[in-house]
Amino acid sequence: MKIATKFIHAGAEPDPSTGAIMTPIFQTSTYVQSAPGVNKGFEYARSQNPTRFALERAYAQIENAKHALAFSSGVAATDAVIKLLQPGDEVIAGNDMYGGTYRLFTKIFEKFGIKFHYANMQDAANIKTYINKQTKLIWAETPTNPLMNIVDIKALAAISKEAGVLLCVDNTFASPYLQNPLDLGADIVMHSATKYLGGHSDVIQGALMMNSDELVQQLYFIQKSCGAVPGPQDCFLVLRGIKTLHVRMQRHCENGEKIAHWLRNNPKIAKVYWPGFTDHPNHNIAQQQMRGYGGMISFELKDNSVEEAKRVLSSTHLFSLAESLGGVESLINHPASMTHASIPREERIKNGLSDSLIRLSVGIEDADDLIDDLNKAIG
Ligand SMILES: *Cc1c(COP(=O)(O)O)cnc(C)c1O
Repeated sequence: MKIATKFIHAGAEPDPSTGAIMTPIFQTSTYVQSAPGVNKGFEYARSQNPTRFALERAYAQIENAKHALAFSSGVAATDAVIKLLQPGDEVIAGNDMYGGTYRLFTKIFEKFGIKFHYANMQDAANIKTYINKQTKLIWAETPTNPLMNIVDIKALAAISKEAGVLLCVDNTFASPYLQNPLDLGADIVMHSATKYLGGHSDVIQGALMMNSDELVQQLYFIQKSCGAVPGPQDCFLVLRGIKTLHVRMQRHCENGEKIAHWLRNNPKIAKVYWPGFTDHPNHNIAQQQMRGYGGMISFELKDNSVEEAKRVLSSTHLFSLAESLGGVESLINHPASMTHASIPREERIKNGLSDSLIRLSVGIEDADDLIDDLNKAIG
């Protein structure tokens, strides 16, 4: 089945009791049993909810996965993956990733005895130096947030298979429309569905997709035991979002390309980070593993003072100054003080994330209006 058809029909079956074409919002906490232990497969909504199950079927289909689980947020999905581990286990993560993931690893899980190494994954072979008997998981993000570096998923999968460790890929930035990590050898895909999957900046949610029957059992046990499940209304919103993911992503890609090139040709801009440029360091890998380059772009001004960056950040009108990404409307963000403020400054600078970096989530408005807005703000 082609992507457009799959995204529209994913998880959807008419409601058996009424024929309603859209999955009803089963706003219930419990289910009546006909005798003790005799039920219709639904006992308590932390463990089972039909709206959530419909979404989980959709999640599996859009990532070409056998199984999927929905969580109350992206970080709750990440949290569940790390709970597969034991004290003493080690994780190798990318050194350029979502600040909240870094915060979860360093501030929460380190104190439970899990050790994290942060590697530059632009060359996948770099992770080999950190692999030892305690290594249980590789955690990768591509394109990375906010520097748009590309990590070779196939190469990472080959190394993790050889070492007998799990590979989990945060696929939030690409979305399943542009990239399917399980097809490239990853064991688990994680999404912040808050972003492109929901697509309308009106819901917080996370997802995990996997093929292994054993992994889904373990993760389902964590999901119901720890309880970070999304409510049915939120599941309905993401189900609706997924139906238009392909058309939204096409426009995000078109607008992203126009804006990336416009920025690059602007004399006031020093550097633009976007994997679609043929001279992007890992462009050939992006070309192999992605179907397009998306609407996420970062850039630095020639006047690289924080004051000038802040002036531009406060001067746009169509690009709203806000954290998050992947919605239909365009956003502008200052990673150093916003999305990535939880990463210590020295750590950030060392990894190339300067104080003056500006990140755009290019929406699906008319590209000419967006360029006009940036042009006036940059001045
Ligand atoms: C937003 C985001 C997360 C966290 O997801 P939430 O839904 O905000 O909890 C994780 N990874 C990436 C790449 C993100 O952009």
